Amino acid sequence: MVEEKVEHTIEALLQERRTFEPPGPFASQANAGDPSIYERANQDPDAWWASQAEELDWFHKWDTVFEGGFPHHKWFVGGKLNASYNCLDRHLASAGDRVAYHWIGEPGEERTITYKALYEDVCRLANVLTELGVARGDRVGIYLPMIPELPVAMLACARIGAPHSVVFGGFSADSLRDRMNDGGAKVLITADGGYRRGDIVPLKQNSDKAIAESPSIERVVVVKRTGEDVSMQEGRDLWYHDLIADASPERDAESMDSEDILYLLYTSGTTGKPKGIVHTTGGYMTGVSSTHRLIFDIKPDRDVYWCAADIGWVTGHSYIVYGPLANGCTSILYEGAPDWPDKDRWWSIVEEYGVSILYTAPTAIRAHMKWGTEYPAKHDLSSLRLLGTVGEPINPEAWVWYQEFIGGGKTPVVDTWWQTETGAIMINPLPGITTLKPGSATKPFPGVFADVVDDKGKPVGKGGGGYLVLTRPTPPMFRTIWGDEQRYLDTYFSRFGRDTYFPGDGAKLDEDGDFWLLGRVDDVMNIAGHRISTYEVESALVDHKAVAESAVVGRQDPKEGERIVAFVTPKAGREGDETLLQELRAHVAEVIGKIARPHAIIFTDDLPKTRSGKIMRRLLRDVAEGRELGDVTTLLNAPILDEIRGKSDALKAAGEEE
Ligand code: ATP
Ligand code: MG
Repeated sequence: MVEEKVEHTIEALLQERRTFEPPGPFASQANAGDPSIYERANQDPDAWWASQAEELDWFHKWDTVFEGGFPHHKWFVGGKLNASYNCLDRHLASAGDRVAYHWIGEPGEERTITYKALYEDVCRLANVLTELGVARGDRVGIYLPMIPELPVAMLACARIGAPHSVVFGGFSADSLRDRMNDGGAKVLITADGGYRRGDIVPLKQNSDKAIAESPSIERVVVVKRTGEDVSMQEGRDLWYHDLIADASPERDAESMDSEDILYLLYTSGTTGKPKGIVHTTGGYMTGVSSTHRLIFDIKPDRDVYWCAADIGWVTGHSYIVYGPLANGCTSILYEGAPDWPDKDRWWSIVEEYGVSILYTAPTAIRAHMKWGTEYPAKHDLSSLRLLGTVGEPINPEAWVWYQEFIGGGKTPVVDTWWQTETGAIMINPLPGITTLKPGSATKPFPGVFADVVDDKGKPVGKGGGGYLVLTRPTPPMFRTIWGDEQRYLDTYFSRFGRDTYFPGDGAKLDEDGDFWLLGRVDDVMNIAGHRISTYEVESALVDHKAVAESAVVGRQDPKEGERIVAFVTPKAGREGDETLLQELRAHVAEVIGKIARPHAIIFTDDLPKTRSGKIMRRLLRDVAEGRELGDVTTLLNAPILDEIRGKSDALKAAGEEE
C-alpha cells in the first residue's frame, strides 16, 4: 500500500473510508446550515469576520476590521468593548434568570448559578481587586480548582482590564512560581485546597511556596473550599469571603481597546518549556463566540452544554468561560475526576442534567474505552445530540466508539483542531453541513485559511501529506509570546517565512481536500526513507479490538537507522502477551502496510502524559533511546516512566526485538 513519495513530505498511509452525513433533523435546525458560508468567507474574509464581531456588544464600533498580516496583525482596530460585559451584562435583561453554570463539586455538592448571580459576584470581586490596587494592565494570577470562583475571578479581571494568568490547579509550586514570575503578577487568587479523586490538593501551601520566590505578588486572595487549616500571612493574605461580603454588586465594565490584552496563558508543554501566549480582546471574543455558536450549534435557551476540560487550559478559557457565556448558554462545571467515585461519574451527570452537547479530549475517550462500555450503558444518555473532541488527533476507532457508545450511534462528532496559540477552533466540521469522517477534522472554519505544504512550503495538494500551515491571520489568534517576541518569531514564523504561521503539526489532505491531523512534526519517523507519522501507526494499533491506547516513537538504531517502538495499553481484561504482540504486528501490516510494523511493542497500563492529558512522545523517545529525560515539569504521571523504562530495558537486554 505504500507508494514511493518524495522524501520531504509525510506519507499518507491510513485509509479510513467510513463517512457520516449530517442527520436530516439535525441539519434542518442547525445554526450553520447553508454551505455557502464557506464561499462567502473565502471571498471576503474581513466581511465574514466583521459579521461575526457584530454579534458582540461594542461600546464603540471599530474603524478597520483587519490591519497588517503575519506575524503582526490587528483586528477591529479602534473598536472598544469589554469581555465581561459581553459574557454577563448584555444577557441580564433577557436571560438574567437563566442558569450560567450548574456546578458539581467532586464530593457531590451542587450549585446553580444564574447569569444575574454570576454578574453580581463578578462585580463584587472586580471592586475588591480595585481596592487591592489592581489597575488596568496589571496581571493577576489565578490558581484555583474547578469551582465557580474560577470563572468569577477571570471575568472580574476582564471587567477591570487586568489580564489574568490562570495556572492549572494540578501544577506544582514551582510551575506556579515560574508562571507568576514570567508574567509579573501583582495579585494571586487561590484557594485553601481543591478536591481530586477524594484527596485534597494543597493549593494554599503550594502558593506559599511559590510566592516565597515570586516577588511581584503583593496580595493573595484565598477562597475557602475545603476548610483545611492554612497559614495566612498577615497583611498579605486575605479571605475571599471576607472581602466580597461588603463589596458592591455593581461595577461598570472598563471600555477596553479591541487590541488590549485579555489574558496570558501558558501552553501545555508537550514539546518543551511552556510559552506565555498573549490573547487580546476583540478578535478573541469574536473567534470564541462564533466558533462556539456555529460548531456546537448552541441553542442558548435549550441546550445544556458541557465542556469537560479544565479551565486551566485554553479549551476551558475559550469553551467553558468566554465562548459559552458570550453566547448566553447553560453549562456544566464539574470539579472532579471522571472516575470518582466510580467510572460512570460523567454519565450520571449527563443523565441527571440532560446534557445535550459534550466536548472532551481523545485521551478521556480512550480512558473510557479502556474501562469498558458497561459504565455508559448504565445511564440514559439520550439527551446528547452533539459530541466534540479536541487536544490530540483522534484515532478513527476512538471516534467511532464515542459516537456509538456515548452518542447512541446517532450524534454528529466534531473533531476540532486548534491550539492555545490560535485561541479558538480553526479546523472542524460544521455539524449541519459537513460529511464526517472518523479521524478527520475536515475543513478550516469559515474565514480560516489553512494548507498542507512540503519542506519548501509548496502545497502538497489533495492526497498528500506534510506540514500544516495557516496562510492568513484570524481574529482569535495570539499576538505574541509574553516577554519574548523573538521566540514568537522563531517558533512560528521561521520555517516557512514571516508570512506563514507554522503550528508545528503534520497533516494530510484526502481526495476531497479534507484535513487529517498527523500529530507533531517533531514526532514524525523516518523508516527506511519513508516519513511516517506516529499517529497513523497508533491508529492502526487502536484499530485492534484489544487495544485502548498506544503511543509510537522512532528509536535511532546505530546499525538499522530508525526503528518503530510502540507502547500499548490493552483494554480491560486483555493481557499484553506474546500472542497479542504478534497479532498487533500483523494487524498494523494489514491496515497500513508492512513498513509501519512496530519493531518492538511494550505493553503498559498507562502512558506518560501532560497534565492536560496529551501523550508525551518525546519522553518515550528518551526512554527508548536510553537517554536522560528532557523537561518533565508538565508531566502528570512520572512513575509510569520508570516502569516503562524497566520494560524497555528488559526487552533490549533479551534481544527480543526483531
Ligand atoms: P506546547 O506547545 O507547549 O508543546 P501543546 O502544543 O501540547 O504544548 P496546546 O496548545 O494545549 O499545547 O495543544 C495544541 C496542540 O494539540 C496542537 O498543536 C496539536 O498538536 C494538538 N491538537 C489539538 N487538537 C487537535 C485535534 N483535534 N487533532 C489533532 N491534534 C490536535
Ligand atoms: Mg504547541
